[in-house]
Amino acid sequence: MRADPLSFLNNEIASLKEQGLYRKLRILEGEPAAHATFDHKSVVNLSSNNYLGLATHPKLKQAALDAVRTYGVGSGAVRSISGTMEMHMELERRLAAFKHVEAVVVFQSGFAANAGTVAAVLTKEDVVVSDELNHASIIDGCRLSRAAIKVFPHKDMAAARKILAELPPAQRKLLITDGVFSMEGDLGPVPDLCALAEEFGAIMMVDDAHASGVFGKNGSGTVDHFQCHGRVDIQVGTLSKAVGVLGGYVAGSRTLIDFLYHRARPFLFSTSHPPAVTAACLAALDVLETEPQWIERLWENTRFFKSGLEALGFNTGLSESPITPVIVGQAATAAKMSDALFERGVFAQSIGFPTVARDKARLRTIVAATHTREDLQYALDMFAKVGRELGVIQ
Ligand SMILES: *Cc1c(COP(=O)(O)O)cnc(C)c1O
Repeated sequence: MRADPLSFLNNEIASLKEQGLYRKLRILEGEPAAHATFDHKSVVNLSSNNYLGLATHPKLKQAALDAVRTYGVGSGAVRSISGTMEMHMELERRLAAFKHVEAVVVFQSGFAANAGTVAAVLTKEDVVVSDELNHASIIDGCRLSRAAIKVFPHKDMAAARKILAELPPAQRKLLITDGVFSMEGDLGPVPDLCALAEEFGAIMMVDDAHASGVFGKNGSGTVDHFQCHGRVDIQVGTLSKAVGVLGGYVAGSRTLIDFLYHRARPFLFSTSHPPAVTAACLAALDVLETEPQWIERLWENTRFFKSGLEALGFNTGLSESPITPVIVGQAATAAKMSDALFERGVFAQSIGFPTVARDKARLRTIVAATHTREDLQYALDMFAKVGRELGVIQ
């Protein structure tokens, strides 16, 4: 028998275990609700991106069921061959109106939208100017494009300006930020970055994955929140988080979208969304437009929970969104605290390197519109108890 050529992976796993970075998957039983069952335990779920509860909204479920009955379960091909259905086009038209842009292209995921777009638009002659905390899918897109990557410290406008000023004026450059940073929960400085992009002739791109359905009118994103319409050339949104389903999209000019139809590799080489997904996304847009109470409740819950954590003395960093990190330092402490909370019925996932810096391990909490006040008060009580037991707070 030959030796296993993958045996070196055992060492990698052993090293993850030593650093407290080895996590076993929690298994969800039943619906991904705000109070849900994982690993046979009923918990307040503070680890889901289902901000508005749309993943289980009756209108979305019905739309998906109807689509399966009428169209079946798969689309049969990539968009550019025979996998474009009328409902795919309708979703793109609806999203373009929602975002106040000329056109939208939908991808299989937000990851595919980011990576596919950056890789298609840039070449190895170009430069990306990127916030250090931008999402992995942006970084992977930059790597695939082979463009040079220049990183500025988180939200450091002076550093971003210095990088831009040192580049030759004729250099093609892409300035890129997350609208909401996924591990900090703070907002990208979109208006200031737009001004820099205008001054230095850079392409401006915003990844609004965690802002979609959360910020702006009816949840249309940070460009609306900051009133920067017309100043962001490429907007990426996700359909997988607050929208409750699956997918990502790019919003911009008709020319940009036409180009991506021809050059974005996930669009060209990976099968389009099944009818149930597309129909549920269309229903989600109806809900965002007609049921504003979900976004209102999300923000009420956010204010209640965030102020509760701060009052207990936790380090919640820079957060200004429904994502509130509880920063504890070492990955092992974060893992221990997350496990202790889980035992007491609160699910707040610990996050360590490489997702966040080595000394900034944390529990990430995300509230939803569908949490009850009792859920959130219970979670605060357990955070207080476990935080004191582990010496994270006094
Ligand atoms: C989640 C996320 C994505 C990826 O979106 P998916 O639809 O889950 O693939 C992209 N960017 C950011 C900032 C995210 O948080």
